[in-house]
Order: sequence, then structure tokens, then C-alpha cells
Amino acid sequence: MTYNLIKQRLENNDTIILDGAIGAELEKKGAEMHKDLWCGTCSIENPDLVRSVHEEYILAGADIVTTNTYATTPIAMKNYGFSDQIAQFNKKSVQLAKEAVKNTNKNIAVAGSVSTFGSLYKYGLEAMTPGFKEQLNILSGEGVDLIILEAMSSQADIVETIIESTKETKLPIWLSISCVIDDKTNEVMLGYSDTLDTDTNIYENFKTSINNFSQMHNGPILIAHSDIKVTGEAIKVARKNFNGVLGAYPNRGHYEKPNWKFVDNITPGEYLENARSWVNDGVNIIGGCCGVGVEEIKAISVLKKNQNA
Ligand SMILES: [Zn+2]
Repeated sequence: MTYNLIKQRLENNDTIILDGAIGAELEKKGAEMHKDLWCGTCSIENPDLVRSVHEEYILAGADIVTTNTYATTPIAMKNYGFSDQIAQFNKKSVQLAKEAVKNTNKNIAVAGSVSTFGSLYKYGLEAMTPGFKEQLNILSGEGVDLIILEAMSSQADIVETIIESTKETKLPIWLSISCVIDDKTNEVMLGYSDTLDTDTNIYENFKTSINNFSQMHNGPILIAHSDIKVTGEAIKVARKNFNGVLGAYPNRGHYEKPNWKFVDNITPGEYLENARSWVNDGVNIIGGCCGVGVEEIKAISVLKKNQNA
């Protein structure tokens, strides 16, 4: 497929179901994580497992599967000693997602994940653009249906650089960003928090971010890799300040170096109730990020208007 079906369903105000986590799910299933490239090496070392994670999400009701390319950014791969394998790793990940679609015989779109993973800051903003463009070219050349810019943990100027880098790309572009609540002011901020009590990075007021990003990008914009409660608040702010399509794929659990900690703080049924409230608040795309797996995706798939879609 075929982005057309997704587009039509969005125009009909339907809910599109994304997949859940890829990296954290591979970790949960026992795949070895590379010390620097995280789940980036899994597509080469453990292709059957990567393909089967995609297949499980499709069978659970996902309309879109995301390639395991979050961690295979050219800048990270060069930095960590994989310079010669950038095309190989990224192409293999697209092939595995496409094979999963073929094996399940369903009309599913493949989203290429382009991210800011891996020691970007030390290179400076200008040096990032070639890496974003290189990954975009490889993924689009290999036949993905859309791109998700997973700029999730990035500060505003980096998000703007990654959006700018996609200008020549013909594929549909979705942008995902993450949010936290500032405890002092109670306001939703662009930023991220991976641990329960330390390392919260707060960048700027989320309303300002949404207004700036929407000048450069007409949507969809997705709130991702954020706490479930914060996601609900961020959606309300986003809806007031942005007219385009909105999405959400939050976290469940938190990161404690070097692993994602899976916590059973919410049942699949409760995840669905949250998702339902986001739909009522104007969200049309829902999936999951780290810690959200097949059971949650299965639960929220009832939000699709046509269950055979
Ligand atoms: Zn995540």
C-alpha cells in the first residue's frame, strides 16, 4: 500500500493504529542490545525476531509498522564504528518490515523511522542535515510508504533542523515530539524524562513549540515517548494551537540505564480508555512507544471504524 488508504481514513476522521515499541519490545523478547547502537544491530543479528515483532503488531491490528531504524542514524553509525554498514542496516530493516506485511497478507503501510539518535549535539546543527538526508534517501529508495521523524527527545532547534532536512522528500512526513510537565509551573513543555526522578530535560513551552513547528510542517504531529498522563495534557494544548492531524504514542515504564524498565502500571483496558479520551480530544493516530507492546495495540484497535480495515 499505499498511503492512500491511510489518507482517506484520516479524511473520514477514522482512527489509525500505529504499532507499539520496536526497540523496547525486542529487548523484552531477549534480543541483545548493542552498547552504543541499542536495537540498531538487531535487524542484522536477529532478523527473524524483528520480522516477527512487526507481524505480531500487524495481527494485533496496527495499520502501520515502523522500521527498526530509530538507532541506525548515519551520524550514530559513523560515531560508533559502523560507517561502512549504514545502507546495509537501514535497507535490511525496511526489507524486514515489508516481508512482515507480505507474510500477513494485509494492507499495511511501512513507516521509515528517521531519528536524532546518537550524540548529535557535539556535531552542531549544520552537520546533522547530511545524516538526516542520507537516512531519508536510503529509506525512501527501499520503498517505505511514509516517514516518521522521531525527533522525540530533541530540543526545538534540532526539531526544526530535521523538518528542514525533509523538504526535498516526496513521501508523507509525520513528526513526533515529546513532552513533560514542568512541576514548578504545571505547564506542558517540550522535553523528556526517561527516569522517574532524575534527568528530566525541559526545553521550552510546548505551546510555543507547536506554533513554531506548525509553521514549517502541516502535520501530522504526534506526541511520543512521553508519560501517558502528560500525553493527555499535551494533546489538549496541541489541539488548541494546531489545526492539522494529531497523533499520540506514549511510553509505559521508564528508562534506567542501560535498560527499559517495564512496569505494569496500566492494563491494556486502561490504555484503551486513555486512547479513547485522546480520540475525543481530537487525535486520529494512536500507537505506543517504549514499554507499549502487542496487548495494548490489540486493545486500542477497537477504535478503528472498520474492524476489517
Ligand atoms: Zn520511546
